[in-house]
Amino acid sequence: MTVGTVPFLDVGATYRELRHEIDDAVRRVLERGHFILGEEVERFESTWSAACGARHCVGVGSGLDALVLILRALDVGPGHEVIVPSHTFIATWLAVTAVGATPVPVEPDPATRLIDPASVEEVITSRTAAVIPVHLYGRPVDVDGFDALGRKHGIPVVHDAAQAHGASVAGRPVGRFGVASAWSFYPGKNLGAFGDAGAITTDDDELADRVRRLRNYGSSRKYVHDVIGTNSRLDEVQAAILTVKASRLDEWNARRSAVADIYRAGLAGTGLGLPDDPADVAQAWHLFVVTSDDRDRLRSEIGSSGVETGIHYPVPPHQQAAYRTGPAANLPVAEELSRTVLSLPIGPHLSVADATRVVEIVRSVSV
Ligand SMILES: *Cc1c(COP(=O)(O)O)cnc(C)c1O
Repeated sequence: MTVGTVPFLDVGATYRELRHEIDDAVRRVLERGHFILGEEVERFESTWSAACGARHCVGVGSGLDALVLILRALDVGPGHEVIVPSHTFIATWLAVTAVGATPVPVEPDPATRLIDPASVEEVITSRTAAVIPVHLYGRPVDVDGFDALGRKHGIPVVHDAAQAHGASVAGRPVGRFGVASAWSFYPGKNLGAFGDAGAITTDDDELADRVRRLRNYGSSRKYVHDVIGTNSRLDEVQAAILTVKASRLDEWNARRSAVADIYRAGLAGTGLGLPDDPADVAQAWHLFVVTSDDRDRLRSEIGSSGVETGIHYPVPPHQQAAYRTGPAANLPVAEELSRTVLSLPIGPHLSVADATRVVEIVRSVSV
């Protein structure tokens, strides 16, 4: 018997906290009777571009679509290579494959779990058409280093910011770096819709304009189609919900950060690999990921004491059946991380008492 489970993430809690505001917002849209590309999407787009310090925000159907549409707007396609992390959620790779280009994996620094500009530079070729760094787990990559690398080689840097809502570097939000950032508002993200949703932020007027057309059948005026577009739009209901939830993002991230502090202090000296927390970055703490050589035992033992955990991610993209078609890639860092990473519960509604209990349970098992 356990004294109640510590859930990995309580997605429904954001609704319970904001029930009245969200109900009002949804009702407003339903009563207005306008559901696609209207004032709610425009309002959320200006809210989110302001939050990111970017000139433009374009709402789209999902985080994967945001990446795909940026690559399409940049004319990345067959014959091109796009540099991606070997250790990431598979959507980063899928976006590259979706436009007919080839993902070229780069191993992360095991300490930060992120790719860095120096290792990316080693694999740049004449076919490299873009680089997609991922602010994995909510920790920003070296944004200035990537900007410099992009300028030096004339290669667009597209940031996968799907896990980094609210993260910043020296006070600068991550959504204003590179040529564009791709956002996911999948329900479990730090800023989550109640369905699929995504967005692109960019300072580039032309890129924003292209993505705007691509998401809407290649059209900027009804029945005039300049390019072969698709249908990938943020809808009015999700946009209205996101505008309400965005007003709480900083507060929710502060609560995540408090949980991260409890874990970092409480688990120091246990032998677990802990995420570090450099002073100049504000992490979004989308996930709190520890590493252990005995991960599966740790997971099952703390699980029987009621601590729910996740693994991000158990199989790296290059070892998925979808990508095992070519010669076997040798990516030992990604492979080791897939065997050792464990995500502890974290979220804006995880109480201090529960976080403290997680520490006690993990300590009782790992020492
Ligand atoms: C969630 C996620 C995506 C994809 O977002 P969807 O909205 O689910 O399509 C892409 N990249 C990373 C790193 C993610 O975590």
